[in-house]
Amino acid sequence: MRIVQKFGGTSVGSVERIQNVAKRVKTWTDNGHEVAVVVSAMSGETNRLTGLIQQIDSNANRREQDVILSSGEQVSMALLSIALHTLGVKSESFFGWQAGVQTDDAHTKARILNIDSKKVIDALTEKKVAVIAGFQGITEKGSVSTLGRGGSDTSAVALSIALDADECQIYTDVDGVYSTDPRVVPEARRLPYILFEEMLEMASLGSKVLQIRSVELACKYEVPLRVLSSLTPIQENLSLEKLGGTLIIPESKMKTMTKTMEDPKISGIAFNRDEAQIKVNAVPDSPGIAYKILSAISDCNIEVDMIVQNTSNNDLADFTFTVNRSDYARAMEITKKTSPIISADNVIGNDKIVKISLVGVGMRSHAGIASKMFQILAQENINILIISTSEIKISVGIDEENLEKAVKALHQAFELEKDNISEEN
Ligand code: ADP
Ligand code: ASP
Ligand code: MG
Repeated sequence: MRIVQKFGGTSVGSVERIQNVAKRVKTWTDNGHEVAVVVSAMSGETNRLTGLIQQIDSNANRREQDVILSSGEQVSMALLSIALHTLGVKSESFFGWQAGVQTDDAHTKARILNIDSKKVIDALTEKKVAVIAGFQGITEKGSVSTLGRGGSDTSAVALSIALDADECQIYTDVDGVYSTDPRVVPEARRLPYILFEEMLEMASLGSKVLQIRSVELACKYEVPLRVLSSLTPIQENLSLEKLGGTLIIPESKMKTMTKTMEDPKISGIAFNRDEAQIKVNAVPDSPGIAYKILSAISDCNIEVDMIVQNTSNNDLADFTFTVNRSDYARAMEITKKTSPIISADNVIGNDKIVKISLVGVGMRSHAGIASKMFQILAQENINILIISTSEIKISVGIDEENLEKAVKALHQAFELEKDNISEEN
């Protein structure tokens, strides 16, 4: 089989960990598989590099930022290749450009356009492990680019497509995707399977275990994608069936498993600590108000997340929306300028809110999930500031101090620690 394995920052966080990764990779080559490995920078390194840039210029030229940011992965790739050599495994390391990762020129958040994987395939054919720097590529102009935070996941999936790999394995510091972040709820349960659709929602609603773009790509090209731990003991006799972790699968495949599945309503709880809320009070309830408030925001390239409007009896409405905390100051400034134009009373901001979301395709066929969610939060005396729903998710904005209490209470009330799907498939 041809396997792409991605090792994240913690997995390559020290020399010992890198040596351990080399041992893990060796068990795959010893079992006759072709392995391409994508590596992240050692943990903390990308933050460190970002900090250096910020010390000089918080608005530094993005092309130059990428030159710096891409350096972290280059250290890991060569260290891993050297570690493999010491174990007698043939390997060769590749910069993004050497692996043919072509991107657009949106520096610091570039998108992969194409991968010309010839050199990597040549290495695999020569029975070498190809070790590729994640997170980086090259623009058409020949400049180094990076793919946005968490981008090595996307490098790995894109490479899996280019190499027509049998599986893309994302090794990290937890042994799979959990019902919620196990750092916040220790009782969280590993999900043996999760649907692409659910994983997309979880990732976009704040579960950073996979970069959202990697899930989008894997879904579009139906790449078999698995999340597993790089910190568990290494198995000598490998078989995909016994690997564990979490497989991310299409709905059609999940349907064949329904005999062992109790049709869970909720698969997981995601949360995002980076929300901020802006409320425009007492605007006239007339056509064009939402447009005027939000167009001013989007003209400045600020993304709006949740939106709600409440109308009162005297033809005045309160209009509330949320943005990412990093855009809060700017969004407040813009909205305060719009406020007199639309004859609003005043604008109130709160940059200490978080968003908690219940996610699950089972919600489509079960009424009452939202009311149960609101009931649990009420029992915990947690005030809901804003709500938004879609077919397979319900999100609420609440004060950040209530985050842990809310996630724990919801996890327990929806019995997410209980096993409702069998792994025997
Ligand atoms: P890496 O450096 O390997 O890319 P990340 O830190 O990006 O690792 O992702 C792994 C982390 O994601 C875990 O340590 C965990 O705290 C967090 N996480 C958030 N939500 C979940 C979830 N639902 N299941 C598993 N991990 C989650
Ligand atoms: N090193 C980059 C980051 O920390 C990319 C990655 O790890 O996926 O965001
Ligand atoms: Mg990551």
